[in-house]
Amino acid sequence: MADSISTENSGTLQRRGLLFILSSPSGAGKSTLARLLLKADDEIAMSVSVTTRQQRPGEEHGKDYYFVSGDEFEEMAADHAFLEYATVFGNRYATPAAPVQQSLEAGQDVLFDIDWQGTQQLYQRAGQDVVRVFILPPSLSQLRERLETRATDSPEIIDSRMQRATDEISHWDGYDYVLVNDDLDACFEKVKQILATERLRRARQTGLIGFVRDLMQQD
Ligand code: ADP
Ligand code: 5GP
Repeated sequence: MADSISTENSGTLQRRGLLFILSSPSGAGKSTLARLLLKADDEIAMSVSVTTRQQRPGEEHGKDYYFVSGDEFEEMAADHAFLEYATVFGNRYATPAAPVQQSLEAGQDVLFDIDWQGTQQLYQRAGQDVVRVFILPPSLSQLRERLETRATDSPEIIDSRMQRATDEISHWDGYDYVLVNDDLDACFEKVKQILATERLRRARQTGLIGFVRDLMQQD
């Protein structure tokens, strides 16, 4: 894994960049929420993961994922290119370190769509800069319905995602915020509120130190 991550950015934010994680059982809506957030907010950039899984129709290399072979994945891991990695549904997934660092340096927060294992690893590395949000479906039957409506997976894959859902959900208490994605618009509003509030935390407002120092010297 990569050795360090610095969230001090030199961009326009005048604050520490944050690492904003969305996790959920597959089908609960995290990609939809992530897409909406990226469209609505130009101060946050998506972390594009590396994976060994098969590319699905409609997915773009470099946009949805970097699709690599098992050997390529191992080479990158040996080169310390990853911030975290995990095996999910039998495939390998990882967060490349360099683009995250570049986004933070450019003054952008970084959005992650990763599972609970990756969340734990990022939290261990950069705890105070990490904001963890878990998305729950309103019910398991609606989760299945969403997977069926999304129509990206075969019935067998949908069954295996449903089997894994309760395992993923069991990690809900490792997150700072837990939202039920019943109404999409309402849930998205909450995601935006969390991000806005977290950006305002005193520890993230590095620009405040100089401001308050100057303020106290006035008069
Ligand atoms: P995930 O990324 O968690 O696997 P997706 O974002 O792909 O899930 O959502 C799965 C499906 O559910 C998609 O077809 C999406 O349009 C739909 N969906 C997402 N949120 C809602 C919601 N609140 N109500 C109904 N359908 C939703
Ligand atoms: P999918 O194959 O459906 O795109 O993603 C399957 C699961 O892998 C999802 O729970 C997703 O959040 C997770 N995932 C995607 N990229 C990464 C990553 O880089 N690291 C980790 N730990 N999980 C990831």
